[in-house]
Amino acid sequence: MLAEIIAVGSEMLTPHRQDTNSLYLTAGLNDLGVSVAFKTIVGDNRKHLVSAIRIALSRADIVLLSGGLGPTEDDLTRECLAEVLHLKLHRSDAILESLRQRFSARNIAMSPNNAKQADVLDGATILPNAAGSAPGQWLDIHYEGNRKLVALLPGPPKELKPLFDAECKPRLAAALPGNHLARRILRMALIPESQVDERTAPIYQQFPDVETTILAGHAEIQLHFVCVKPTLAEAEARVDDVLDLVAREMGDAIFSFNGESLEEIVLLMLGVRGHTLSIAESCTGGWLGERLTAIPNSSRVFLGGAIAYSDRSKTALADVPSYLLTEHGAVSDQVARALAEGIRRRIGSTLALGITGIAGPAITTGPDATKPVGLVYIALTNGEDTQVKQFRITGDRDRVRLWATQYALEILRHYLQ
Ligand code: ATP
Ligand code: MG
Repeated sequence: MLAEIIAVGSEMLTPHRQDTNSLYLTAGLNDLGVSVAFKTIVGDNRKHLVSAIRIALSRADIVLLSGGLGPTEDDLTRECLAEVLHLKLHRSDAILESLRQRFSARNIAMSPNNAKQADVLDGATILPNAAGSAPGQWLDIHYEGNRKLVALLPGPPKELKPLFDAECKPRLAAALPGNHLARRILRMALIPESQVDERTAPIYQQFPDVETTILAGHAEIQLHFVCVKPTLAEAEARVDDVLDLVAREMGDAIFSFNGESLEEIVLLMLGVRGHTLSIAESCTGGWLGERLTAIPNSSRVFLGGAIAYSDRSKTALADVPSYLLTEHGAVSDQVARALAEGIRRRIGSTLALGITGIAGPAITTGPDATKPVGLVYIALTNGEDTQVKQFRITGDRDRVRLWATQYALEILRHYLQ
């Protein structure tokens, strides 16, 4: 099976924008054992796009098109593909309705040209686009006597990636003779990549048929295991084998076995253990709350909290006694403890976290003046016991703040375990 990727967009024929979608799609196709034979970049030009599609269909079995699904005059991908395949476009009421809802949810009037995004090629399967307005489309057709798999994908990378993973990869895997893909993602927080690699490489190197990728960043390490086999059961068994050994080696450093985020796992565990959580955040300024509330339905266990950034708000919102602030400084074991205990009492949760630290630059006056940037205290209380941990986080302001939220979630996870 040969694949071709067509990236549509005049901006990628200028020095200012690069086609990165095709890199992502290539990696995904390679996962499935398909190699990319051709890549084409074509501008928003009807004649050129028709010709690019014609050529791709004549030389590749799989054709993935990215971009040009928007509402504007220069978004031509649907029309051009319809022209080449001699297919009609019909307007889908279901898509129109979801476009209307999308616009009204944002309080924006839907302009008439948006309706064009509801045009579907006859016989195409609509691929829902959770991250944007234009859905993708999937065609399993015959062109000049040969079977072709064709996908229309939105241009914005944050829409294309999840859509390709969720909707195209399984369809491609099912259509490829003898190719079934199993994938598992292990996630670990706050562990250096080199340590993970040192401990796990001897394991996954024994599984040459399982493709292993280590991704580091955002205060976590991900291990991706992908295996392609003639049956799904075989592929899953191989991935599970390597996963079991890696899990045994890394123990409870692993917070998720199926790609879930740390906040998802912590919220899940809070629910299972019958706990509720409140938080008082100083140096993280609401970042932890943002991470928790980004997960739908988190209010069942996450009751809320305070951004207690100044001394005054620490006292006003979390009842931190002012003598603690003057005696020990805002960045101290005692204040972290008081933040957690105070917010727990105020909100009435079973558990509470207090976070205080110096994200940078250094504080120059008052009781915190001698303390180093990156010093963070995190307290966890259940109303009876309070544990406070001290951390020294290196890096810039953003890194200190992100890692502080990560440490807080990890403290909670270990407590709940
Ligand atoms: P929209 O509804 O946003 O118009 P679309 O499907 O029509 O979506 P385009 O208009 O082609 O997509 O592109 C939208 C954005 O996505 C542009 O900012 C563009 O830079 C980016 N983009 C498009 N194609 C690619 C690509 N191949 N690689 C990286 N970015 C891309
Ligand atoms: Mg567009």
